[in-house]
Amino acid sequence: MENNECIFCKIINREIKTDFVYEDEKYIAFMDIEPVAKGHILIIPKKHCRFFIEMPEEEFAEMNKVVHRLANVLKKATDAEYIHLGIEGIDVPHVHIHLVPRKKDDGLSSYKRTKYEEGEMDAFAEKIRSFL
Ligand SMILES: [Zn+2]
Repeated sequence: MENNECIFCKIINREIKTDFVYEDEKYIAFMDIEPVAKGHILIIPKKHCRFFIEMPEEEFAEMNKVVHRLANVLKKATDAEYIHLGIEGIDVPHVHIHLVPRKKDDGLSSYKRTKYEEGEMDAFAEKIRSFL
């Protein structure tokens, strides 16, 4: 059920290199290359699907267990005060859940993205993986 034009399907198939932080049989998580905050990760199902409401209910529930686990991991790895969760399927038409480490009054917005310095994203990914 993959889509040849989909950038996230290409990431799943390793046609595009990225920093993975988690992978199991059905889901993967990787670093957002233009994060809202450093440590921002995306969790996606390996099966191509545009909107979460199109996923079978049980699969969505199962995916949320992974999301919950990774949110806790991310909070520890980044010293975040809380984890922002967002679900989209607009910019890339493949279900993706954003987890963003946040602090109260950090003034961040999903419309303002930041960039990593050279090697910084790898370091964040490694640190997140170390808390799994
Ligand atoms: Zn896809």
